[in-house]
Amino acid sequence: MTAPVSILHEDNTGTHARIRNDFPALHQRVNGKRLVYLDSAATAFKPRCVIEAVRDVWERDCANIHRGVHTLSQRATQRYEDARVKIGRFIGTDDRRELVFVRGATEAINLVAHSYALPRLGLGDEIVITGLEHHANIVPWQVVRDRTGATLKVVPVSISGEVALSAVEQQLSSKTKIVALAHVSNALGTILRVKEIVNRAHALGAVVLVDGAQAVPHLPVNVMDLGCDFYVFSGHKLYGPDGTGVLFARRELLESMVPYQTGGDMILSVTFEKTLYNELPARFEAGTPNISGAVGLAAAIDFISDVGLEWIFRHEQLLLKFAQEKLSKIEGLRFIGTASDKVGVISFVLEGVHAHDIGTILDAEGIAIRTGHHCAQPVVERMGVAATARASLGMYNDESDIVALAEGIQRVKQMLG
Ligand code: PMP
Repeated sequence: MTAPVSILHEDNTGTHARIRNDFPALHQRVNGKRLVYLDSAATAFKPRCVIEAVRDVWERDCANIHRGVHTLSQRATQRYEDARVKIGRFIGTDDRRELVFVRGATEAINLVAHSYALPRLGLGDEIVITGLEHHANIVPWQVVRDRTGATLKVVPVSISGEVALSAVEQQLSSKTKIVALAHVSNALGTILRVKEIVNRAHALGAVVLVDGAQAVPHLPVNVMDLGCDFYVFSGHKLYGPDGTGVLFARRELLESMVPYQTGGDMILSVTFEKTLYNELPARFEAGTPNISGAVGLAAAIDFISDVGLEWIFRHEQLLLKFAQEKLSKIEGLRFIGTASDKVGVISFVLEGVHAHDIGTILDAEGIAIRTGHHCAQPVVERMGVAATARASLGMYNDESDIVALAEGIQRVKQMLG
């Protein structure tokens, strides 16, 4: 299939065609139509190099890591640890001890809630989150609240889907022990002013966890520059394998934390009386990890670095503007989440039509979007709706996808409007 040509920016045509060719899953027909994939916020397609990296581990270096003296085990260990260094550098740390491999953003947040927050918080302490969090950054803090007696405070979100610094300040106090917030909202696309919020929280002695699941695929992230204490993300949204993810934690904090899970590989020695825990980061990686997944995630980072996050950001921003212009012409369509600073997440409702029906009719046209509350029920309710339709962009999307979406929505209107 020939790649659609982009007119969005000058250097786009060649780069973009090359990118599309690298994603095998794009080139298929769904329900007899060209697949238009607009659900990268749920999970991103994988470039060929990621698929090959995972396969290569299984074909050549299929062995368990850290424990084996044989060659394959040593090779697998090397690849796993090289991946750690690469992923750490991608988000701005050179210290491999600060990078813990986990199953995804959800597990990383649970790790921090259990290993950092549960032993430290008590009655009178406060946890601050924002009103636009994914359930993965709400429920673990409710568990901490319920077990420790701490209070959970929520920074309100404006009707445009923004989190004002003044609103954050109102919730912060000397009682705040943890601030946990999204870098980018999955339901609305809003980019939060993380650096300023980190500064304010630190001034009051609180630590900050940033949920970067929706940020790392779209913007350059540097944890040192942000100044945050914890940063988490999932590999599968970053064009990498599912079941992979990362917790970045400042070394002093990790050193002071108790392991969340225990078992093999996280120990130095075990007797029935006493166990000595391993060094960082192994102390937080109990059991056999997703070895091929880590290597695949490192390959995804190589791919992204080759394309360049600046290019990706610019491309997606131009496409977002194009989509906003195109869709705003559709009568009865209302955008949900209109922050001035946002990534390519386009949530909308259509007058008189249930979001689920939009998704179903678009699917018949080969167009994949997400409908519902996007695991962020509170913010969708805050926007005054029960559900939205959400089209989300990846580096491989182009105008032809947006044109197809707009035509698909017109078809929905003809059928149901
Ligand atoms: N946070 C945000 C902002 C997300 O978008 C997601 C995934 N939708 C998560 C956390 C959870 O990620 P995972 O399911 O990969 O653990």
